[in-house]
Amino acid sequence: MDSSPTQTPREKLEAWLRYYDDLNLGAFYTDRRNMGRRPMKQATASAPASLPAMQPEMPIAAPKTAPPVSVLPVLNAPSLFEAIDRVEGDTLERIREDLGECTRCRLHKQRNKIVFGQGNPRAELVFVGEGPGHDEDVQGLAFVGRAGKLLTQMIEAMGLLREDVYICNVVKCRPPENRKPEDDEVATCSPYLYRQLDVIKPKAIVCLGGTAAQALLKTKDSISRFRGEWFDYRNTKLLVTYHPAYLLRNPNAKGDVWKDLQKVMAHLGLQPKKSSR
Ligand code: URA
Repeated sequence: MDSSPTQTPREKLEAWLRYYDDLNLGAFYTDRRNMGRRPMKQATASAPASLPAMQPEMPIAAPKTAPPVSVLPVLNAPSLFEAIDRVEGDTLERIREDLGECTRCRLHKQRNKIVFGQGNPRAELVFVGEGPGHDEDVQGLAFVGRAGKLLTQMIEAMGLLREDVYICNVVKCRPPENRKPEDDEVATCSPYLYRQLDVIKPKAIVCLGGTAAQALLKTKDSISRFRGEWFDYRNTKLLVTYHPAYLLRNPNAKGDVWKDLQKVMAHLGLQPKKSSR
């Protein structure tokens, strides 16, 4: 990259941007205010103010003079970090292969089976949970224990079958004693989840519980801040609802979850399952 002590700050910046262009990193210098987690237009309530990237879109002032290099914001382009997660020509099989018999974090030590996720690779709807529990660890399948049975009922109430949707987790190995995954475990494993979502390209993502929401919305806020609202995850509608394991302990919350799922059904054009009575 050309740089000289006599360059003005503007010239230096332009030189850097040309350099990034040469490296094919053009999408990196997008206008960050307009990217990532912003409330969808159809949102029924305003997003929490503490989630900065969820602020409504801000208009971009037109430049007074045409910029000398192609540095106009590229709306909806991936950030540098998102671009790193993306793999050209990716497939679910390739992601599973890349994961291999993973030993990247401490969770591998006590796991029995990796739980990659399963379902329709072209699903319009993806459910994302936290991490495998005991039954999942034994069978190598997501949501097959008690919480999984409740999830199946939720899916069927929406007029779908489990085979119609894709079900996966933030971490692919069971945390000991079903504890919450640690931040570094989430950070290590979540790129595989991002790749799964990029390959499936669903019309909607439902985060089951706070861990999935925090991993995809990149926030530490608690689920109560965003449950039942639409958010944007890389141009896909994302809604957060309670985890089925929470519903097993708090059945009174089922009404809230049903309202959330009805929003998803409206988005996907689904009719609720007809009662057999
Ligand atoms: N809880 C989860 O978050 N995921 C599973 O697969 C099972 C239980």
